[in-house]
Amino acid sequence: MAQFAVIGLGSFGATIATELVGLNHDVIGIDINKKFVENIAEQITHAVIADATDDHVLNELNIQNCEAVVVAIGEDIEASILCVLHLKNMGVEKIWAKAKSKAHHMILTHLGISKIIHPEEDMGVRIAQSLSYPMVSRYMVLEDNHFLVKVEIKEKLHGERFNHLMNHAPEIKTLLHKRGKEILYSIDPNLILQMGDVLVVEGELEPLRKLSARFK
Ligand code: ATP
Repeated sequence: MAQFAVIGLGSFGATIATELVGLNHDVIGIDINKKFVENIAEQITHAVIADATDDHVLNELNIQNCEAVVVAIGEDIEASILCVLHLKNMGVEKIWAKAKSKAHHMILTHLGISKIIHPEEDMGVRIAQSLSYPMVSRYMVLEDNHFLVKVEIKEKLHGERFNHLMNHAPEIKTLLHKRGKEILYSIDPNLILQMGDVLVVEGELEPLRKLSARFK
């Protein structure tokens, strides 16, 4: 169990805070707006009404002891930057911050924080990718060009032999096959795929694209 702080409890910050609590972590949530703090007070470890641009407040809350701090203030760029600066001065090493614009992103980059998040854009990219690869129900970026992808067998591939499908992209590794509740980690190459089967595969974008063409 680790301790995290989330500064700014709008829908983005509040979601992160409650998800972290769900993962059994301690979460301090801070917002200048009483209403947002009251909304979440019962769901997180400690909810505080405070101005996060005030370094005294951050010091009093011992924010520097947190494993990571998420600055989820987007609209008020000045407040976001001031808060990040204070956190840096306090020695917080892991700072993740939301950026609303290019200028905001550039300044945060300059301040040397660990990760800059563009929630709307990230969501847009995910939606666009799942529209263009409808068989992909989930994916995760492992590295720049390396993905872990959960794909679902639709009607078109019902009855296809597993090795026949995977021969189209031999570079791709299949990590598991799931049918109903049964999960197999070692897959018989002669397995006949059925609609609703799930495969979790791993590989680079180009071979994944080749494979995806078989699903369309
Ligand atoms: P979301 O998309 O998460 O709903 P938003 O982009 O609409 O957020 P923002 O302006 O980014 O809204 O603000 C997120 C939260 O940050 C708000 O709840 C706001 O009250 C809070 N906030 C803004 N300035 C400060 C500050 N100085 N100290 C603490 N909290 C702040």
